[in-house]
Amino acid sequence: MLSLVDTHLHLFEPQFRGDLGSVLDRARRVGVTGFITAAVDLETARENLRIADTEPGVYTAVGFHPSAAGWLDTGALGTLASLAGEPRVVAIGEIGLDFYRMDFPPEVQERSFVAQLELAAEVGLPVVIHTRDAWARMLEVLRTWRRRLGPRLRGVLHAFSGDLAIAEEVAALGFYFGIGGPLTYPKNEGLRGVVARLPRDRVVVETDAPYLPPQPWRGRRNEPAFLIEVVKTLARVWAEPVEAVARRTTDNARDLFGLDIGAVAAARAEESAS
Ligand SMILES: [Zn+2]
Repeated sequence: MLSLVDTHLHLFEPQFRGDLGSVLDRARRVGVTGFITAAVDLETARENLRIADTEPGVYTAVGFHPSAAGWLDTGALGTLASLAGEPRVVAIGEIGLDFYRMDFPPEVQERSFVAQLELAAEVGLPVVIHTRDAWARMLEVLRTWRRRLGPRLRGVLHAFSGDLAIAEEVAALGFYFGIGGPLTYPKNEGLRGVVARLPRDRVVVETDAPYLPPQPWRGRRNEPAFLIEVVKTLARVWAEPVEAVARRTTDNARDLFGLDIGAVAAARAEESAS
């Protein structure tokens, strides 16, 4: 039995309100035993925590998405810091820069992003980073803050879509790569070429559900059970067995987020052996 971690999805979204229990059960049946549900602001962070409290294997990231960057004032940052101390919180995220949607001006996004990088280093959590149409600035910010904060600043570039030069810099800065549904799209030959050359101890898998469904389910609601399609494609790209890719990416997720899913995986192995 595989044991996979969906390192980035959004269980708080209204698309899951009616059937969250069966969505998670379907995922567990195909071997997805860990889930990291990422927030976009305080309200979704609280909703994530509520879900993580009741659903086994669910962990959460709390933070302000670049589309909510303008709402991160001193009070909100204090609240975020206290939520970060909750036991099911394993990361600060998703945070970053989005110069495509540009819901807030670049300097507002950057202020919010940097404040949360500092918070993450302070509380000892990794960051989950969203970046769109902003690679040049993103790399500058990460370079600067990695220099200031050292290895306390660590995390993942979620939905990684950069070219090889960007990938090399991201790897040199000590960050991980989040790979999801877009890897399966026929036109993404370029992304598969880059992913083939990523350091394999730095790759984690994700669905970003309910968004970005993998190829066979495009146009429909994405869900964590579809993670298996990403892993199968990754296995093809790396020319490795699916089981090996599953083990490797789960180990990577455990290393980055400090997940305690070994117990879950062991219980499953026992179950399938008996
Ligand atoms: Zn996301």
